[in-house]
Amino acid sequence: MTVKKIMIPTIVMYVLYIGVLLLFRFVPNSAANLKTALSNIPEATGQRADNLWAYYLINRENPLSADFTVGLDYVQGDFMLDERCAEYARRMIADAAADGVQLTVVSAYRSIQKQQENLDNYIQRLMREGHNSKEARRLAEKEIALPYTSEHNAGLALDILTPDWWERHDDITAEFEFTPQFAWLSENAHKYGFIMRYPREYQDVTGIVYEPWHYRFVGVYYAEKIKESGLPLEYFYKTNF
Ligand SMILES: [Zn+2]
Repeated sequence: MTVKKIMIPTIVMYVLYIGVLLLFRFVPNSAANLKTALSNIPEATGQRADNLWAYYLINRENPLSADFTVGLDYVQGDFMLDERCAEYARRMIADAAADGVQLTVVSAYRSIQKQQENLDNYIQRLMREGHNSKEARRLAEKEIALPYTSEHNAGLALDILTPDWWERHDDITAEFEFTPQFAWLSENAHKYGFIMRYPREYQDVTGIVYEPWHYRFVGVYYAEKIKESGLPLEYFYKTNF
């Protein structure tokens, strides 16, 4: 046997070996997972038509209709979203976990009745803290949407915190922006069709305080475009449909 005859198969084997190693080394976890994820979601191709049903405004000026109903599916624990986007959320949570980041859902779909209770409880709390009823209501309505005007009532919004949040905090605060969970979501949420809905810079436009923990499903196509634009949904929606 000549040296050449031994060398060529050895080199071929070596190249194949390195190729396989590189394949596993350089395919990032989340990208690989996302591919699996989207193939499990019917018609999820990242195209505009995929989730057009989810692309609309819900706010004080654009409440849900009084006869609004929604089919629900579980996302994490007892928390549910519209069944058409629940799988996107489950995948997002699973892929974050694969990256070592535990996303803890603390609110998802809320009934109209629950929304009213939350608002009333918060007004009561502010009054206990010394605000008069008018002021308490004004402050509360900046933080908690009126029934029919919350994205949570539509089953399209998730509030996400760290697993140990309540051991360290009494309240949900903007400090969430300093967590690895927020960093992961900032980097990845749009790939699953979610946007951070209430940016710090646009509180006057959204009418809602900065909420780094609140993620709204608008579909992958629009989530990417909205993230790119840096605009709040109110502005983006006016000029993009
Ligand atoms: Zn929320």
